[in-house]
Amino acid sequence: MKDFNICEHCNRYVDLDASDCPNCGQPLVCEANGRISIWRLGGIRGGLMGHLVSGLWRAFEAGAVIQPAFLDERPSKRPRWKGVSSNAFLDQVLRRDSGETFASLGVTEHNIVPSSRYNFLFGYAYVGFPAAVISLQMLSSDKPEAELLIRRVIGVAVHEIGHTLGLDHHGFGDGIECVMVADERVDSLETVDGGTTLFCDSCRDKIADWPRRIITTQADAIIAP
Ligand SMILES: [Zn+2]
Ligand SMILES: [Zn+2]
Ligand SMILES: [Zn+2]
Repeated sequence: MKDFNICEHCNRYVDLDASDCPNCGQPLVCEANGRISIWRLGGIRGGLMGHLVSGLWRAFEAGAVIQPAFLDERPSKRPRWKGVSSNAFLDQVLRRDSGETFASLGVTEHNIVPSSRYNFLFGYAYVGFPAAVISLQMLSSDKPEAELLIRRVIGVAVHEIGHTLGLDHHGFGDGIECVMVADERVDSLETVDGGTTLFCDSCRDKIADWPRRIITTQADAIIAP
């Protein structure tokens, strides 16, 4: 299925290679070289994205750009599944990765699942693959306080981006304090809440030389007007 960007100002579908909306002239895609490029699939609740950008900077010392365009919601729709397709969503984020970004991250309020048999995922990424996606659906399902939700979202985003930088999991039994501690069989809101949002020294060393990284001096989120 053909994939478009959606202008947040006039809601038009626009070709992926257009950096400004041909209808209203508003920006759709901002340059994100060396930074984390964040794409939204559908609207995201207020008060969250700025905190996510700050949390990503604390973990990676990389700035983030919240892309003004929304992703086309049609390619990932799976009406009979319990959520939208995490693979189609990931593929849309990857397609928009310029090759010059630190990583590309998709964020959605929708539930995401890799197949009809799954109930939910917190996030989805492949080790060494430059795109990752996260879902707020299960993270917000128990109506957490804003501060707890922000912490969960940052933890899952940092973990998934960690995978894009080549990091794999530590086991719960390894006794390591690191955001990459996980086990698909036992992951739950409790394990997310019990973990840290930062990397251990070993993971930090591994990502320090990531070639797409540029050092920034502050969390320089670029949020479209
Ligand atoms: Zn427009
Ligand atoms: Zn993982
Ligand atoms: Zn680690």
